[in-house]
This record gives sequence, structure tokens and C-alpha cells, in this order.
Amino acid sequence: MILLIDRATMRFVDVNGTACALLGYSREELLAMGPQDVLPTTREQLAHSYDTLIADPSLQNGMHAYYTCKDGSRLPFESTRRVLRSGDRWIIVAISRDIRRRAAAEAALRESEERYRRTFDLAGSGIAHVGLDGRFLRVNRTLCEVLGYPQEELVGKHVKEISHPEDRDLTDARRSRMHAGEMESARFEKRYLRKDGSVVWVDLTVALARDPEGRPLHEISIMEDITEAKQAESALRESEERWRVTFDMAGSGIAHVGVDGRFLRVNRSLCEILGYAAEELSRLTVKDISYAEDRDVTDERRARMHAGEVDALHFEKRYLRKDGLTVWADLTVSPVRGPDGATLYEIAIFDDITERKEADEALRAAHEELKRSNAELEQFAYVASHDLQEPLRMVSSYTQLLQRRLGEKLDDDAREFMAYIVDGAARMKQLIEDLLAYSRVGTRGKDFKALAGEDILRRALVNLRAAIEETKAEVTHDALPTIEADDVQIAQLLQNLIGNALKFRGADPPRVHVGVVEREGEWELWVRDNGIGIEPQYFERIFMVFQRLHNKGEYPGTGIGLAICKKVVERHGGRIWVDSRPGEGSTFRFTLPKARHH
Ligand code: ADP
Repeated sequence: MILLIDRATMRFVDVNGTACALLGYSREELLAMGPQDVLPTTREQLAHSYDTLIADPSLQNGMHAYYTCKDGSRLPFESTRRVLRSGDRWIIVAISRDIRRRAAAEAALRESEERYRRTFDLAGSGIAHVGLDGRFLRVNRTLCEVLGYPQEELVGKHVKEISHPEDRDLTDARRSRMHAGEMESARFEKRYLRKDGSVVWVDLTVALARDPEGRPLHEISIMEDITEAKQAESALRESEERWRVTFDMAGSGIAHVGVDGRFLRVNRSLCEILGYAAEELSRLTVKDISYAEDRDVTDERRARMHAGEVDALHFEKRYLRKDGLTVWADLTVSPVRGPDGATLYEIAIFDDITERKEADEALRAAHEELKRSNAELEQFAYVASHDLQEPLRMVSSYTQLLQRRLGEKLDDDAREFMAYIVDGAARMKQLIEDLLAYSRVGTRGKDFKALAGEDILRRALVNLRAAIEETKAEVTHDALPTIEADDVQIAQLLQNLIGNALKFRGADPPRVHVGVVEREGEWELWVRDNGIGIEPQYFERIFMVFQRLHNKGEYPGTGIGLAICKKVVERHGGRIWVDSRPGEGSTFRFTLPKARHH
């Protein structure tokens, strides 16, 4: 647009076609107007600026503003003004260019900058522009939060100032490669020191902003606070380390075993148990070192474990050490499963039980031997006492015959001696019968069957009826359970204990009570009396064969009753013992297991 203005009249004196077209006025309309009619400036201000130009034409520089077009729209322009003298008139020549496009571009740029500024400020990541001198130029709010500094303190600070001393120069080498154009951006994990001195771990990405010619302008740094993740990581590392040490130091042998049976990891104890180095084991499978006969014993149950039917397995099996010795291991195996439930590997825990196994074996052998010799002894006692009966019968019957036939012919001495022989033979008969009864407990016992306790007690009391009446005894009892036992022997047991309670009575009439209490897996029964009691030093001895505390003059008996009781109780898998105090009565206790124990 070319517009000519008369300074004196402040009116357009000429305008070109472009001016008309752009402003939307006709030439005639424009020539009736002045610049103040289309510019956002007053006539006085304009006049003043024209006068300044007239006084010093060298000031004729560009000027930006907008014209108001006829339709009211604004037309941004850029203009150059010159002054012409025409006679006595001053004419201002304004040459204006339409700059709508540029203005639009500028506005778009401003908008975009605004957008980026907001993004920058609101971003969840810390963002900084760092000058080429390493100082913060701009920082966003998140970065201030991450680093714990207010914005104004951070701007101008050198990044190295707030870096953790150990990480200060970490990024130097790759930064300079980036500056040299060898890489676009670089990523680091490094530590900074917050204003309060605490350490913050940051995931840092650095890129370079360049001008259109490619010269570096500044760095753009994006930082994520990863302190928590780092702490979790190191906690994990620590816990892994703890487990590793536990694994290595454990007294049990521990191995991770692959599904193919290979040792993946083994600990020190396992190496000691098996006599191999860890590195040798890593080339072997479990079967390679299994004792030949035990090689496949675990296969079936292992397969069931892998199929998820059982959680863990427990075996005892033998392995072959490197030195060829056999080692017994107590083995617990459990699977580590993947997300789909398939076994990834097994954890196997080995305990060396060779010593226990050997001791078990020795014990078993000793037990066998003992059983054998006991049976032999029982058999011997039985045979001996059985065979002794015959000659004894001869002694007593012929002595009786002698007594009958020669009775009157014998003198007093001979008759007295004869009486001793008869008496001795009778006692020996009793002893032999007792011994036979004792040996029969083991050899002639009946099978166990379920029995009502009360019935058995009643049977024992029937046999004792005479003694009970004679001593005016009172026998009471708890409700007795059903037990699984040999009825004849248990009746014998109760009869012996109650009989003793009557026999070893004190001055008062005997009061006897049969009690019972249920314990874990067994019944405990007892027979309590108010008799003479027993000194503690005899508590063991009275249960032995022919051991008595009194001579037969005081209390009759052979000392076999309690020995039989003990044998009966032991045959039933129980124990028998006595509690007593002299003068205060005795309590004989015994247990009977609820389950069968043959
Ligand atoms: P015996 O009754 O034939 O002597 P036992 O084996 O039954 O043989 O008893 C061994 C000894 O234990 C008895 O001689 C007696 O001294 C003591 N004894 C057993 N039962 C009692 C009891 N209820 N009170 C006191 N002493 C007892």
C-alpha cells in the first residue's frame, strides 16, 4: 500500500489501488479521510510523529501497528515512512506491507511456546534446561520437588554442585560424546543430594537442543525420581544375599534340582555329605549318585508331585559318595512352580542320617537277639519247671506212702523230718507252678480282643471272694473302659494286685480302689490300698521274680505275683510302677495302649 498524507490537513492526498483493496474503501472515500481514521492513534499523536520525522528524516524507521478496515477488521502491517516537500507542503509517504501471515505465525509460535511452557511446568517428570556451562537455565516444578530446592535457588546452580559426590563425573564422558554429535541422547541412573542432604536416585535422560545451524544451545534433562525403586532393589538384593548365606551356611545339604534331575545349585553341606565338589555335582544328576537299589524308588511319587497331586515328598534313601561309601539321607523335596503350575525346579533338603540308620540297625539286631534269647529262656523255664514236676511228684507221693505205711514204727524225730520233707516238697511244687505260670505269660498268651473292663474285674473279684470276706475288705472302682487285651491275663493282673492289697493290709480293714484315667493313646489304671506301704528303695525290686520283702512266716507267697503283673503289662505294650509310702498304703499303676501292640 502506498499512502500519501498532507501534514497540514492530515488527510490522504493520494492512495494506490492496493491500499483501496486492502482497506476496503474506495479511492474517493479514502481521499476524504486522514490516517487517524484508520490507525489506532489520535490525530495529535500522529501529527507529532510526522513533525519529528520532518525535523529529522533519518528517523524514518519501520513502524508496526494495524489499520482498521472498513468492515472493522484489523490489518496488521509494517511500514516505512518518508517525508517529501512539495512546494510549501509536507507530504508523508507511507509504504505499508500487509503482515497478516507473519502475525499469524507469530501468534501460533506464542501459543505453542505457551503450550510447551505449561507442559514443562506441569510435567510429572522433573525437566531442566541446562546451559552449556552446566548451570540450570530453567527448571520445572516437579524437578524442584525431586531435588528439594525452590526454583530460584536451583536456577543458576551448577549441576555438579548438587550431584552425589560419587556420581559427580559419571555422565561426563557420554555427555561430551553427545555434544560432539555422536549420540542423540544419553540415559543414566545417578544420585543427587537434596537441599536437606538426603540422597535421591534419579533416572536421567539428557538430550541436546540445537539451533538451526546445528550448534548446541542447551541440554534438556528429564529426571524421574527412582529412589523407592532403588531402595526396593537394594532391599531385594540384601534379602537375596541373606538367603544365599543361609543356603550356604545351612547345616542341612540343600540343592536346587532341575526337572531333568540335574543339580542346579548345591550348598556346602551337601558337598560335604556327598563328598563331591560343587562343580562336580553340577555335571551330575541325582540318579548318578543314588545307591543302585534306591535309584528309582522316588520316581513314582516325584511324578505325582510334578503333577500337583502332592506338595512335598519325604524319603529316606541311600546315595553313593564319591569315595564309594554309602550315605543314608533323609530327603525332603518340594517343587518351585511357575505361573502355569509346571515345576521349574525342585528344592531338595538332605540330612545325613547314616549314623542314625546304623544305630537303628544295631538296635534292631540287638532287639532281635534279645527277643530270641528271651524266648529261649522262657522255653527253658517252661520245660525245666514242667519236667521238675514229675520227680517232685514222686518225692512227695513216696514220702506220703512212707508216712502211711511206717507211720507208727517211726520215732518222733523221723516223723518231724518227714513233715519237713512234705512241707519242702509242697513249697517247691508251689514255686514250680508259679514259675510255670510266669513262663506261660509269654508262651501261652491268647490273642487280644475287646473286653469290658468291668467284666474282667468281676472275674478277678470272684476268685478273691473268700479273702475279701475274711478281711472285711471294701473294694470300689471307677467306671472301667473297654480295652483290647488278653482277658485271662488282665484278670490275673487285677487279681494279683488286689490280692496283694488284701494280703499286705495294715491294722484297719482293707479299702481298695480300682481307678482309671484316659491319657493320650492309652489308659492308665491303678489299684490303691491302705496297707502297710513299701519303702522307695524296693520300688523296682518287687517286680522281679521271687523277690519279696517279707519272709513267708509274716506273709505267705513266693514273690512271683508282681513279676507276672509286669510281664502281662509289658506283653500288652504298657508300663507298671508303684507309688507308696510305708504306713500310708500303696498305689500300683499300669498303662494299656488303646491300639494293638503285639
Ligand atoms: P508275693 O506277694 O508272693 O510276696 P509279689 O511279687 O506279689 O510276691 O510281691 C512282692 C513283694 O512286694 C511282696 O512280698 C511285698 O513285700 C511287696 N508288695 C506287693 N504288693 C504290696 C502291697 N499292696 N503293699 C505292700 N507291699 C506290697
